[in-house]
This record gives sequence, C-alpha cells and structure tokens, in this order.
Amino acid sequence: MPLQGKMKPEDKEDGKNRSAALKELAYEIRDAFDAVSPFIEKHTAIVCPKCRQVCCRDKHGRPDKDDLLFLRALGAEMPAGVPERGESDPCRFLTDTGCSLQRWRRPFRCTFFFCDPLLKSLEDDNAKLYRAFVQYFQHLVSVRRRLLGSQAVTDVDLARPYL
Ligand code: SF4
Ligand code: SF4
Repeated sequence: MPLQGKMKPEDKEDGKNRSAALKELAYEIRDAFDAVSPFIEKHTAIVCPKCRQVCCRDKHGRPDKDDLLFLRALGAEMPAGVPERGESDPCRFLTDTGCSLQRWRRPFRCTFFFCDPLLKSLEDDNAKLYRAFVQYFQHLVSVRRRLLGSQAVTDVDLARPYL
C-alpha cells in the first residue's frame, strides 16, 4: 500500500515556492527565445525560401516531454493544429509564410536545428551580431537545462495528453 502521509502546511508552502521558481525559469526561457528569434528569422528569411528539402516535417513539430514541461511551467498549452498528419507530412504548423507558432511555443528542436546553409548565413553576418546571438543562445540552453534539472519538475503534471 502506498504511503500517503498528510501534507503539512510547510510542504504546501515548499510546493508553491518550487512552482514559482519553475515559472520564473520558464519566463526566462521565453525571454531568451524572444532574444534569439530575430537573428534566426533574419537568416531563415534568406535561406528557407530557396530550400528544396524543407525540414518542417510533422514529427518535428510535435513537442517532447521537455517541451511540455516548459510550456506547462509557463501555464501555456500547445495549440492543437491539425492532428491527422503522418510523421513525414509537412508540419501542422507550417504555413506559406513559415511557422505559425511564436518561437517559444515551438518544440525546442525547431530552434536548435541549423542546417548547413542556415548556419553559414548566420556566421557570415556581422561578427558582433553573431557573437551576441551565440551568447543569447548559450543563455537559452543553460536556463533550459536549469529548468529541466530542477527538483520542481516533479510538481508538473506530465500525464496530461498533448492535443
Ligand atoms: S532551416 Fe534549412 S533545411 Fe530547414 S527549411 Fe530552412 S533551409 Fe531548409
Ligand atoms: S518550426 Fe514550426 S513549422 Fe517547422 S517543424 Fe517546428 S513547429 Fe513545425
């Protein structure tokens, strides 16, 4: 029989504090997504329209448990999109003008993936801008790591289904 001791007031308080800490990290991540996005968008606007092998397949647009954890810490849910898609079909969030989701709502892999032409385009930009971008990006990765490694993740309900 599982142990189900009564929750003490201090446990409840601890839980609240952990949830607040988690939320704070999640907001920091969202800000970091917003900080890196314009530079990435500048370059996807250059390289993606010429691309013959668009990487936005539906399987890439599906959030994994870490993406869900971040969204729920933020109090946000994934938008539903069109569920009846094969894994290799165009992503449900892809439109004629690119991704319909704000960057922070996309799975992390969508921001973490740089194909060779995109990477080259980024690197060929102004060196100062590129360095600043790399710093913001490292910050994003590091805060996200903190969120995922936080003890507070146990407070997040991961059982809720996507869609
Ligand atoms: S990121 Fe690269 S692979 Fe993906 S659509 Fe743009 S150019 Fe193509
Ligand atoms: S960037 Fe947007 S459209 Fe592309 S795979 Fe990710 S969610 Fe889908």
